Amino acid sequence: MASTAPAQKGASRKRQLDPLDLYDLRSSLSGEEQMVQDSVARMVDEKVLPVIRDAFEQHYFPAQLISEVAALGLLGSSLEGYECAGLNSVCYGLICQELERGDSGLRSFVSVQSSLVMFPIHAYGSEEQKQRWLPAMARGEAIGCFGLTEPHGGSDPSNMKTHARRDGGDWVLNGSKMWITNGNLADAAIVWAMTDDGVRGFIVEKHMDGFTAQEIENKFSLRASVTSALFLDNVRVPEANVLPGVVGLKGPLSCLTQARYGITWGVIGAAQACLAEALNYSRDRVLFERPLTHNQAIQLRLADMARRITTAQLLSLQLGRIKDRGELSPTQVSLAKWNNCRMALDVARDARDLLGGSGISAEYVPIRHMLNLESVITYEGTETVHQLVVGKELTGVNAF
Ligand SMILES: Cc1cc2nc3c(=O)[nH]c(=O)nc-3n(C[C@H](O)[C@H](O)[C@H](O)COP(=O)(O)OP(=O)(O)OC[C@H]3O[C@@H](n4cnc5c(N)ncnc54)[C@H](O)[C@@H]3O)c2cc1C
Repeated sequence: MASTAPAQKGASRKRQLDPLDLYDLRSSLSGEEQMVQDSVARMVDEKVLPVIRDAFEQHYFPAQLISEVAALGLLGSSLEGYECAGLNSVCYGLICQELERGDSGLRSFVSVQSSLVMFPIHAYGSEEQKQRWLPAMARGEAIGCFGLTEPHGGSDPSNMKTHARRDGGDWVLNGSKMWITNGNLADAAIVWAMTDDGVRGFIVEKHMDGFTAQEIENKFSLRASVTSALFLDNVRVPEANVLPGVVGLKGPLSCLTQARYGITWGVIGAAQACLAEALNYSRDRVLFERPLTHNQAIQLRLADMARRITTAQLLSLQLGRIKDRGELSPTQVSLAKWNNCRMALDVARDARDLLGGSGISAEYVPIRHMLNLESVITYEGTETVHQLVVGKELTGVNAF
């Protein structure tokens, strides 16, 4: 006898889920958030994807994209005033996600300009500094970089060797910085240096005597991004270029919290691009007389990618809502930076493998994202550093 069991209470009608958004987070976004995501996605599809492979292979930053991201208001997008868009944190996250679906290099450019350069000028700068730099940076007419890491060890910024001493009305800076995104593109570097009072932030301008940037040429990761070493040899910086509003490591660390938040979203975009490629490839690839997708082992791997992406999406969206309530803790950001970077790197590596030999070709996106994510999991605090931040929160013990 055929079963006529009534439909279960609360069961919804079967509908097709979006493989890249299994929990339909899109429906919980506001109209403005959806609009921002759509416009950045369109720009990435039309302007970024056609050029990014060549930029990665030839190792250059596609500078023509600066005007594209500026035109959409993506530079300093969450800052208020000074020609900035004043968008909420979820919008900033979605911007990062869509940009990194294109390439981590472009997202890094926008993250550095927005969170590591414009944010500290906005939060700690004088009115004169804000007027001078923020509108020009929002328009993409002035580019910035952020110099915290030094050659002897980025995980321990309290051991800072770069120093600044007062000399009359000026400061004189000496030292060097390593692995600086946008270094050779920048008109101004926010350089963090030790003073007798503690760490201070200095706006070092590219024309200042004794200041040089040298591009790091031999990278196998973030090849569509400029990374540089900065050298400061008796650079004389006027008092007007010191950020007056902050003293101590909390200055640079507060900037990193902003940027790391964006990274938690960005890497989701890279992972989505890899899953999309793996899905397409395994549908088309016929082995043993059936498409790859007909194998349980392949489905398990695809399902695992989707599981990881979905949990990362939930983490970042919740983080964004907490941030917009003004209640964000840096430990919460560390947990998500650790989880989401690990997730994206694992997804990219598995997608690369699933494509077989094609997986090592730049014709497909996973190898490029995988190589990029090796940097993203390292910069702005390595995975270990973020694990130790969470460990410290749980135990109260500083184990660094
Ligand atoms: C492409 C790229 C772009 C970057 N952009 C910028 C930028 O714009 N501005 C900037 O200031 N910096 C930038 N960085 C630097 C980045 O933030 C540092 O590389 C990162 O913080 C790690 O520092 P490090 O490379 O000196 O490694 P180290 O600090 O020397 O760490 C080496 C290893 O030791 C581990 N480790 C460290 N401490 C501990 C501990 N207590 N216990 C256990 N393990 C530990 C680390 O996890 C790591 O595996 C960039 C880096 C890259 C690769």
